[in-house]
Amino acid sequence: MGDGQTSRLYRKHRIQFKAQCAASNAPCWLCNQPIDYSIPWKDPLSGGINDDAFELDHLYPRSTHPELAEDPGNYRPSHRSCNRKRSNKMPTGSLGNLTRQWIK
Ligand SMILES: [Zn+2]
Repeated sequence: MGDGQTSRLYRKHRIQFKAQCAASNAPCWLCNQPIDYSIPWKDPLSGGINDDAFELDHLYPRSTHPELAEDPGNYRPSHRSCNRKRSNKMPTGSLGNLTRQWIK
């Protein structure tokens, strides 16, 4: 990453959010396919990037909604590859509602 905007709070959120999604086997919100939460996004041996790994996506992109960058209600589980393909475009179809149910 290294965008210089990743706060300690966000990193903590990301870890909690991943654990939450893994516990409920949440599918990718962009392609609706299951996510293998055991895959690290960066392969520890080769250093390569695993496109099928989990990545925290933002319903409203950080670039356009920086105020929601650390709002857990704005987090969605995604595949790294889906997140990359999406870029900053809003997906078509139902966006659902912002929810804070996962966080205590
Ligand atoms: Zn996906």
